[in-house]
Amino acid sequence: MINKKLLQDSDKMSKTKNITIPDDVEGYSQTRIDVDLTKGTIKETVLSNDFVANWIGGYGFGAKILWDELKPGADPLGPDNIFIFSIGPFPGTILPTSSKYGVFAKSPLTNMFGMAISSGSVGAQARRAGINAIIFKGKSPKPVYLVIDDDDRYLVPCENTVWGKGCWDTEEILREEFQDHRLAVMAIGQAGERMSRMACITNDRNRQAGRTGMGAVMGSKNLKAVCFRGTKPIKVAKPKEFYQIAKKLIKVANGPATSKYRDQGTPAGLVSYNKLGMMPTFNYREGTWEKITNGEFTGDTLNNEWVVKKVACSQCSIACDHLARVPKTHPDYPNLVASVDVELLYGFGTAIGNADWPTVFKCITLCDDLGIDAISGGVTAAMACELFEDGLITKDDLGYELPFGSTKNLAKFTEEMILGQGFAGEIFGDGTRLAGKRLEEMGRKNAGYYGMQIKGLEMPAFDIHGMTSFAVGESVSIRGACHLRNGAYGLDAKGTFDRFAYDKPLERGKKIIDLEDVYAVIDSYIICKFTRGIYEDDDEMAKVYELVTGVNHTGDSMKERGTAIVTLSKCFNIREGWTRADDHPPEKFFKDAHTKGPAKGITLKEDGFQTLLSGYYEARGWDKETGIPTNATLKSLGLDFVIGNLEPTKNKGGKK
Ligand code: SF4
Repeated sequence: MINKKLLQDSDKMSKTKNITIPDDVEGYSQTRIDVDLTKGTIKETVLSNDFVANWIGGYGFGAKILWDELKPGADPLGPDNIFIFSIGPFPGTILPTSSKYGVFAKSPLTNMFGMAISSGSVGAQARRAGINAIIFKGKSPKPVYLVIDDDDRYLVPCENTVWGKGCWDTEEILREEFQDHRLAVMAIGQAGERMSRMACITNDRNRQAGRTGMGAVMGSKNLKAVCFRGTKPIKVAKPKEFYQIAKKLIKVANGPATSKYRDQGTPAGLVSYNKLGMMPTFNYREGTWEKITNGEFTGDTLNNEWVVKKVACSQCSIACDHLARVPKTHPDYPNLVASVDVELLYGFGTAIGNADWPTVFKCITLCDDLGIDAISGGVTAAMACELFEDGLITKDDLGYELPFGSTKNLAKFTEEMILGQGFAGEIFGDGTRLAGKRLEEMGRKNAGYYGMQIKGLEMPAFDIHGMTSFAVGESVSIRGACHLRNGAYGLDAKGTFDRFAYDKPLERGKKIIDLEDVYAVIDSYIICKFTRGIYEDDDEMAKVYELVTGVNHTGDSMKERGTAIVTLSKCFNIREGWTRADDHPPEKFFKDAHTKGPAKGITLKEDGFQTLLSGYYEARGWDKETGIPTNATLKSLGLDFVIGNLEPTKNKGGKK
């Protein structure tokens, strides 16, 4: 029985205006598990009503706990880093797409706020096992995995069982061990074990908590996997009303609002981005590709010729996961099955200039199974191809050629990069930023220029030569280059503002902030961003929270929580040494223009970019010049506890 008196942190809470927090908040288990991996101990405490109502779940929990408990300047791959697993109030309920979880730590890729979100069955099993958050500290002397089996929680040594295995084998072996095919397993592969800074966490075979190297943090702690099995009931505050609204939302989620994700899936974006000159091709040398224009490499072709099945996560009827299969007659990859989306078709397809579908699928499966983020992996491979084209790396270095359009050699490079083997692994095995640094230390001048990253995180599938709003949106993202911290690419794609101009800095800033704050709420609930359109408005989204938890948030008060969460994670970055210069796209966008397409001849302009960046800071109520939140803004968001604690750490021990 949980002792409700063990409330944490209530004196340090950000207080949301105009909400009433009932004595019995429902929806959450409010159970926090602390695992001291050094000592091998597991402790259970209670998350207070104030904590859950103010920080919502997922991202919000991660932001608050990292701010409160991580020692500034900690080495991301050292025992002082904290690894947080958290969910919101919805897993286990019938709210569409809500079986999600988040992981949070200082990122070994960016040395700033690290976060990754995944879907599948983990969230629901964790919630049914009565868990809201798990905080891992220290480092286990030997490899272990954690089992959460309802009220049984224990660590299992695994040096001689699953350590050394890929993510897929690990999941299968553990399900076999527990004789339960529904056991939810989040695991790292060989890349996480060797602490590749690109390492991801895989669950349900095809779902990844991919970005910012969270798998490396697990590896640094000798934590191979976490298994969840839960059978407890979920209590919600107003079950009848919640059932009615959830039923309606499920119906809408089955309709046109989400059909593009269900039918063609995100690969539909290949054609639309290509038309706008936004499809990164040949490591961002171009934004259009004739293989898309001629129909060879499109979502239609993928679905008609390769996709054999569409799969859904728990609590989801959208089924956006498109599985492509290579025929059994293929000489190299017979029967290989890959889970595909547009980001991966960009990483191992357009960015490489590779239209050979089986090669793309092979590279994706290597990433998912051996355990690296496939976006980072693809963008790092694209960097290597361009370096090869320009003679900065050679066949003598790699042992093989790697021009744009490589196929078998691309798969070989990808495997070596993931496993840390050979030149590919030694130089490129930790992502683009470190690859550039390592090559420059070897005298390969200007190699870092080829790495398409912001804050150390590789860029997603948008070429921003002609996307001035998203150039800012992607640059200010607290976790590095990302299309999921704010959807500002939509402002450029839909023509909300002139995407080649630098006017209306304050208005653009406000729009980016609106998107960023609502995304912070979505990642705190946690639900899929694909379902944002199923809600009538922000109030309806807040209503489902109220019906499940009993806390009377409105659209406005929930948005304020989003603002507080983004601001707090920004403050975390400032404390870790962030400066305005970190909010900047790669130099290539300012120097090299496309030779064709809608953005032909266009480069970003430094003055214009800086004007828009200042507009964003101003719209946030942050200092226009430094980008640091003012005390007045911090106070208005109830982040008083940050004031006076924003001094950048002098300990740069973990900075790579
Ligand atoms: S929309 Fe896709 S990722 Fe989201 S829950 Fe459904 S199947 Fe999973």
